[in-house]
Amino acid sequence: MQTYDVIVIGAGNAGLTAAATLSQKGLNVLLLERHNIPGGSATSFCRGRFEFEVALHQLSGIGTPEKPGPLRSTLDQLGVMGDLEFVPMTDLYRVVIADKIDITLKPDLPQVIAELQHHFPHEKNGIKDFFDLLYNFFLQVINVFYLKDPETSREKYPLYFQYALKNTEEVMAQFISDPLLQMVLSPYATYVGVGPSKMAFADLAAMFFSYIEFLPFHLKGGSQALSNALADKIIQNNGTIHYNCGVKQILVENGAVQGVITETGEKIETHHIISNASKFSTYVELIDDIHVPDTVTDELRQCSHSPSAFTLYLGLDCEPAQVGITESSNFLLSGTHMKTSFARMRDLDIDKRDGMMLSCYNLIDPGFSPPGTCQVALVTLKYGEPWLKVPPGQYASEKYRVADNMLAAAETYFPGLRDHIEEIEIATPLTHMRYLGTPTGSIYGFENFLKDSELFIPNQAHIKGLYCAGGSVGLCGFQPTLDSGVQTARMLLSEKAA
Ligand SMILES: Cc1cc2nc3c(=O)[nH]c(=O)nc-3n(C[C@H](O)[C@H](O)[C@H](O)COP(=O)(O)OP(=O)(O)OC[C@H]3O[C@@H](n4cnc5c(N)ncnc54)[C@H](O)[C@@H]3O)c2cc1C
Repeated sequence: MQTYDVIVIGAGNAGLTAAATLSQKGLNVLLLERHNIPGGSATSFCRGRFEFEVALHQLSGIGTPEKPGPLRSTLDQLGVMGDLEFVPMTDLYRVVIADKIDITLKPDLPQVIAELQHHFPHEKNGIKDFFDLLYNFFLQVINVFYLKDPETSREKYPLYFQYALKNTEEVMAQFISDPLLQMVLSPYATYVGVGPSKMAFADLAAMFFSYIEFLPFHLKGGSQALSNALADKIIQNNGTIHYNCGVKQILVENGAVQGVITETGEKIETHHIISNASKFSTYVELIDDIHVPDTVTDELRQCSHSPSAFTLYLGLDCEPAQVGITESSNFLLSGTHMKTSFARMRDLDIDKRDGMMLSCYNLIDPGFSPPGTCQVALVTLKYGEPWLKVPPGQYASEKYRVADNMLAAAETYFPGLRDHIEEIEIATPLTHMRYLGTPTGSIYGFENFLKDSELFIPNQAHIKGLYCAGGSVGLCGFQPTLDSGVQTARMLLSEKAA
């Protein structure tokens, strides 16, 4: 029987960086992935002459060589930076609220403030004060939460203690009274999957700070280029990767990990596992429940799963400008309150009331698809439950009906979009469930409520030798999950050394 120092389950962002970190340290690492390619959400697929990006819209934390962001340093340490070409995006985002406003924010703080003040002169002071607070607060978050200043106190970090447990809606309302402006400032809520009334203000602050200070980036070759580079590095470090090799069971004896059994029935020994499968799947599906500590069962009972997504991947036979696409990241909203868009996430159908994001990478990377074409991702967040109720025989027709409605809604912003479709692929929550193995196809782990965040539920090994990494044990998104793999690998190394 084969034995490894560490088995990593799942080659999503966190699984890849965990395996790369451990193999770099000389450990004998086996990475087992159910799919036939690395990446999880960070993958691409081909249809016709297009290679479609699955998930990445705006990569945070990269920064420039002169002002590197934390993710640039991480990828540098893992030895993959030289294999990748990052392109800074020129816009933070464009937000169009039907019949009300069309505004584009650039990744530069003075420009963000000036543009917002230009459109909302009656909120001039509130806008400035809001961003002052957001920046000063987040600088304190960095010291307390990320750098773990041992001298943390209320006196030293008053903003952290005042705002760390507040939600976005209440903090925004302190400074901004115009509901339209509140909506313009809220699109990043879709990056965590909870509306402003539930989204931690710290999460909004993290995104504005990170995207403005370190810019949003596109990656040439898409997120698959990053996943491939990390997988290649693991192999160069003498690690082993098995694709098409799902794990069926994690073996536990006397409260400690003993190995895994794969879906083909092979038993492989190890005393250390990092699971990049969701925490729910890890403890509920992969481990016999007699070995699961009550604390974990209680914790999982209290968490709910984040939304999934309904996405149209479109290969258009024209340049973006021909259908009116002028910015790479567009949030298309309607109504006067984000609550309306977020309430729609529980509905299977899509119409103009759904908030949508349209990404077009060709605007910053013309080579992203063949000359004279462009690639568009049109995505809206949807919970998986309504899709689980669709009878299998009606799934295909429902999928095409909803896609048709989504296109009709998008055409109110970009007339003629439909006439230029050369290739189309549709992903429903069930698609994400199938490819990621997450419950109800959730793409952001557990719902990102403050009560379930790392502030209250730190990532730790509940069974000796078993660690979880990825979107279900911390903040979701590319930067946080890539970081999660590295941090979890370091935790394993230090506990192994102790
Ligand atoms: C449509 C979409 C759009 C998104 N947009 C953005 C964005 O613009 N910016 C951003 O930062 N984030 C975005 N995200 C979120 C981001 O992609 C995820 O948070 C991140 O990629 C999750 O990484 P992860 O490490 O948790 O692993 P996952 O991507 O969840 O991968 C887990 C891996 O584990 C494997 N696995 C599961 N169970 C088993 C098993 N039993 N045996 C073997 N293998 C197993 C799966 O096959 C998968 O490969 C988006 C996600 C989606 C789907």
